[in-house]
Amino acid sequence: MQAGPMAGLVAGSGGGAVVMVRVIMLSPPGAGKGTHSRWLTLQTGAAHISSGDLLREEVARGSDLGRQVASYTDRGDLVPDELIFRILAPAVVTAARNTGGYVLDGFPRTMPQALRAAQFGADLALTSNAVIYLTAPEDELVSRLLDRAQRDGRADDTLGVIRHRLAVFARETAPLIDYYRGRGILLELSTNRAEADVQADLLNQLQARGLMSPRATELGPDHSGQAETTLRNS
Ligand code: ADP
Repeated sequence: MQAGPMAGLVAGSGGGAVVMVRVIMLSPPGAGKGTHSRWLTLQTGAAHISSGDLLREEVARGSDLGRQVASYTDRGDLVPDELIFRILAPAVVTAARNTGGYVLDGFPRTMPQALRAAQFGADLALTSNAVIYLTAPEDELVSRLLDRAQRDGRADDTLGVIRHRLAVFARETAPLIDYYRGRGILLELSTNRAEADVQADLLNQLQARGLMSPRATELGPDHSGQAETTLRNS
């Protein structure tokens, strides 16, 4: 879809218009924000912008910036806001231009980031229309991340660093839950159940808010007809 006056609107099955999803995925490590973000972008054609993926790409590039980033991510500390904005802003601008929609996976994570993101969204006429808060019990989060460590070998998926990331979430990111609840855009979902149940619940909640065409719901996960747009910070 080209950006323009209609950017941000997609046709619904009844001939009506459905607002393109512009959502923030907010969840502690291990609650499934990567999985459900990828799935939602396949459903909607919105751009998937994962702060963690963009940071890991920068680290893999071996740039000076990447070395600075790794000194935080390896310990499970948050990367300073200035570096985050430098890395993320180009991806968000590209999303605005190309799709009019986005799934922000892992950003914002602090109140200063949330306030700056709101300003940035307002400037681009692309304010978020929902925040999806995924939850699961803490022992389940830890066991999922330890399983992932065996599969993917991520440097920060060791027990000590996982516990630190959960503490950082509780301290820095949890205040955003009440902030977005107060703005009336928070959707809360437990991921402590089958993935298909989470997806059905998510679709229902987005549809109830006019953010998802009923047709996409009927067709199910493999028939959206939309290609995923994953943005790279190039
Ligand atoms: P998880 O949610 O499992 O911690 P992510 O891939 O989202 O995984 O993030 C990995 C790491 O990248 C975080 O521990 C943090 O160091 C860094 N990071 C990601 N997003 C942000 C952000 N918005 N602000 C600061 N640091 C971030």
